[in-house]
Amino acid sequence: MTTDLFAIPVEKLRGVSTQKAGELHALGISSVGDLIDYYPFRYEDYRIRALHEVKDGDKITVQGTISSAASLQRYGRTARLLCRVTVEGLLITAVWFNRAFLKDQLELGREITMTGKWDQRRRQLTVAESEFPDRGGAKTGTLQPVYSVGGSLTQAWMRKKIDEALNQYGAMIPELLPAELLNRHGLIPRREAVMRLHRPENTKEGQEARRRMVYEELFLFELKLQAYRAANRKQPDGIAHPVNSEEVRAFVAALPFELTDAQKQVINEITYDMKRPYSMNRLLQGDVGSGKTVVSAVALYMTVRAGYQGALMVPTEILAEQHARSLGKLFEPYGIQVGLLTGSLTDRKRKDVLAALQMGLIDIVIGTHALIQDDVVFRRLGLVVTDEQHRFGVNQRSILRKKGLNPDVLSMTATPIPRTLAITVFGDMDVSTIQERPKGRKPIKTYWVKHEMMDRVLGFIRREAELGHQTFFICPLIEESEKLDVQNAIDLHAELRLAMPELAIGLLHGRMTPAEKDEAMGDFAAGKTTVLVSTTVIEVGVDVPNATLMIVMDAERFGLSQLHQLRGRVGRSDLQSYCVLIADPKTENGQERMKAMTDTDDGFEIARRDLELRGPGEFFGTKQSGVPEFKVANLMEDFAVLEQARDDAAELTARPEFWTSPGYEGLRSYLRRETTLEGEPLD
Ligand code: ADP
Ligand code: MG
Repeated sequence: MTTDLFAIPVEKLRGVSTQKAGELHALGISSVGDLIDYYPFRYEDYRIRALHEVKDGDKITVQGTISSAASLQRYGRTARLLCRVTVEGLLITAVWFNRAFLKDQLELGREITMTGKWDQRRRQLTVAESEFPDRGGAKTGTLQPVYSVGGSLTQAWMRKKIDEALNQYGAMIPELLPAELLNRHGLIPRREAVMRLHRPENTKEGQEARRRMVYEELFLFELKLQAYRAANRKQPDGIAHPVNSEEVRAFVAALPFELTDAQKQVINEITYDMKRPYSMNRLLQGDVGSGKTVVSAVALYMTVRAGYQGALMVPTEILAEQHARSLGKLFEPYGIQVGLLTGSLTDRKRKDVLAALQMGLIDIVIGTHALIQDDVVFRRLGLVVTDEQHRFGVNQRSILRKKGLNPDVLSMTATPIPRTLAITVFGDMDVSTIQERPKGRKPIKTYWVKHEMMDRVLGFIRREAELGHQTFFICPLIEESEKLDVQNAIDLHAELRLAMPELAIGLLHGRMTPAEKDEAMGDFAAGKTTVLVSTTVIEVGVDVPNATLMIVMDAERFGLSQLHQLRGRVGRSDLQSYCVLIADPKTENGQERMKAMTDTDDGFEIARRDLELRGPGEFFGTKQSGVPEFKVANLMEDFAVLEQARDDAAELTARPEFWTSPGYEGLRSYLRRETTLEGEPLD
């Protein structure tokens, strides 16, 4: 009875050539269903406005009568067409640029509709588009959808194709939501909502359509999470780690510092999870420098003591080496073996590590993506930790997890999102948060200076060097070009050496061999170099407590969260630390970022502002963070709807008939289609 619109290739539509189809595919549109679900991201408003309601600078559409002969002026290559138009009894001036050909059509007494920018003082409209009602005037009075298009696809073509698809197939758009939910929330049917999203008659209709689609999107998302949870809940097939609290207490007492209350709290939460026979799936959020590594060390200690192996996956080799060094030292007195597995090991070395891992001779392995390769086999994997988890895809995390029999999983991130949001979008994870820094930490003093202050900046480096402290100097980021980043670092390094011959200045960038990188990082960590010039390869995780000064060149090129991560490389001891941002931002957004950095060094506040500045889509980095991308919904604005949808989904999935009654077959088949990710259950 129902035709599956997703089974009809988009090429079936008239006028969709192979080439056009290819370009549609690039936008993720391969079926008629996809095309119909390709919603506009905004509307162009051609509705007629009354002049007394508009403000200076508004973009408006007005209708009037041509009341003077048009005059044409030329300046160089610009042609300016001028004409008087009577609008609502008021004489205004209409101006066109480079539309000389219109002159003959501007006949005295002819009706015209014009869309453009209104200048209140001069009563002048700079016309972007105009139409003559006696020739149809198709756009006038409407809201025109604006789609994201690319390649040779034009806005007009896209509008036309979607329009045709709706005319031909619109009646077949199926309903997905149960009637009870539609009624409960006063939502319009799906077919109507989709039609109106593409062709709203007015703003209210558009909003109603949006409301319905937002709800649907969030409801289906929550349904997926909850169904997955329901299927996996209360299955005691995880590892019940026997934890000896005396031993753990002794381990903690032997640490070189006292844990913060927040760290203790989080360790308790983790211990509770690890003792239970259900797999732990916990997200640990904590600002940079809040001390997440040691928390994971305690968890790793517990798994090893219980007779299992632990794995710690990190996004960069530099970080892997660092963790291997520091955890190696920490675990040495306990006879716990720490191994390192990265992509740059020699074949021989790699084979040794793999064998030792398989035989259980290595208790804790620390590594990069190299950990998730097929031939990495554990003897008895009990705990998986991912550091900087937002840098990994969901799949990468789940592959590592599958190397054990339902091991416990701890994911750590220094890019916190608001707790309520985290709980809801990471519906299948428990969330722990460290919102406190170790005692004695002073706020990092942050300054924003112009490039001309470079001399003073160098003075700053010298002063810190005299105190025996070290400096990171980060090079500008050239978008999409690691090569240029590297060149920048090399140049800056040379300049600094000339300017400060008395200081040992190291260099670190992504094109160096792993051994060179390790040496540069090792020299800096050991204090052999005083200044480290680096690209963003040290952005996350790097821990050199004696470094007190972070300088970021051309800081406006970096995003806010990224700047905060970079700043987090200092302030890792009780020494006063500083961050200097060298920037002459041209845009308001750039200035806002610099201001946010100087205003606060609280990562949660930074995350909030970054979210505001970039919007959730960019902020969450979609695929990277594991936070889903929505077509219509906006996680921040529609948060209340998300919560509602979560409750509705929970209620529905708790009802036995949901899983059996034919009335819910539509939703169930949706779930069957969607709850797998490249063949793996959602993790
Ligand atoms: P992040 O949360 O950014 O990963 P780290 O775990 O690297 O932070 O910790 C930052 C620094 O603080 C490290 O040098 C670590 O040894 C130190 N540290 C961690 N916890 C404490 C604490 N409770 N007291 C003092 N220093 C601590
Ligand atoms: Mg860290």
